[in-house]
Amino acid sequence: MNYHFKCTLCGEEYDPKTTRYVCPKHGDEGILDTVLDYKQINTITSPRQISDSHDFSIWRYASLLPISDARKFAPPLQVGWTPLYRSTTLGAQLGLSNLFFKDDGRNPTASFKDRASAFVVAKARELGVAIITTASTGNAGAALAGLSAAAKMPAVIFVPETAPQAKIAQLLIFGSRVILVKGNYDQAVALCLAASKEFGWYCRNTAYNPYTVEGKKTASIELCEQFGWQSPDQIFVSVGDGNIISGLWKGLRDLLILGWINKMPKLMGIQAEGSAACYNAWKAGTEKIEMVNAQTVADSISADIPLDGVRAVRAVRETGGAYLTVSDDEILAAIPELARQEAIFAEPAASTAYAGLKKAVAQGLVKSDERVVVMLTGNGLKDIASAMKVAGAGEVIEPTLDAVRALKF
Ligand SMILES: *Cc1c(COP(=O)(O)O)cnc(C)c1O
Repeated sequence: MNYHFKCTLCGEEYDPKTTRYVCPKHGDEGILDTVLDYKQINTITSPRQISDSHDFSIWRYASLLPISDARKFAPPLQVGWTPLYRSTTLGAQLGLSNLFFKDDGRNPTASFKDRASAFVVAKARELGVAIITTASTGNAGAALAGLSAAAKMPAVIFVPETAPQAKIAQLLIFGSRVILVKGNYDQAVALCLAASKEFGWYCRNTAYNPYTVEGKKTASIELCEQFGWQSPDQIFVSVGDGNIISGLWKGLRDLLILGWINKMPKLMGIQAEGSAACYNAWKAGTEKIEMVNAQTVADSISADIPLDGVRAVRAVRETGGAYLTVSDDEILAAIPELARQEAIFAEPAASTAYAGLKKAVAQGLVKSDERVVVMLTGNGLKDIASAMKVAGAGEVIEPTLDAVRALKF
């Protein structure tokens, strides 16, 4: 498949054979978009052909991905084709008749990040690199650990020492080299970048590697296919670095250019109040992202300077969506609500998207019959310490039937 890179800041075009990560003119901020050969795609495949595929993974969209031979390079773990559920309860409570949840916690390492890591590991194999590295708040690393284990490729992963234990367990169990940085995510990113330059490792860092967004775009393509190749009206998603929302936007732009969908949904970016750099820029009407001192219970969306901030602000602005912020209390309260009403256990960074939907409905931003999707990006088992804050307590009893009777039912 033919494709090239294009700088999101200056529009300069680059050949992927000679440019690996970012625009040489703009350094680490010169994030690259991938421009595909859309005419070629429409001659080799079609929505109908894809819908006949028995490959229920992101690789059913291989013909829309910038890779030479997906069958040869894809790591053998099933990523993607996650369930899209129609809301049973919460939609009615909010007065919405077409509310859906997409549960990306159902990926092999239990987060949306598997989409990016699967694709970047495939590209690493295509490029023939020896070692792959990433910095992560936890999930991107867990995803890379799992996918690189599947590909038998050594991985070096930098995470803040304070990452939730379950995520650290995932990194360790898959056999990656795990570096616990005494610092925050932004410091882990800087260190990973410096180390990859020094040691020549292939760097998966979010947005810096142009292929993370290409992996993540499979979620919006999948979503449209699950709706019979139609786009929804609004998509709610949590935003930290802004690479997921940029990925959703890319998938939708690809489908629009191909003529496979006929309208762009509004992208609704939800941030934690304590980590709201994209929200701030959007609100101020600029693309200039000001650093914040990020602090939130939703560790996966805690970022001082979002690595894909410019594109993430554009994704919302150009689709006519909005940014909203929610408090840590609202994020935590959304976890048992989703679990009890829809039976989906989400980690804080995932429940954030639903907390944002509630706020958007309260502000009159959603019409009752609009088709609305809430992306749930990570499984609740990732962070049980947060879940236990809002789960309530079990009832401790003596092992007798009398003790059970005494509980009153
Ligand atoms: C990474 C992540 C996000 C946010 O994605 P960004 O690309 O950083 O905006 C949201 N939820 C979960 C569970 C994540 O792991």
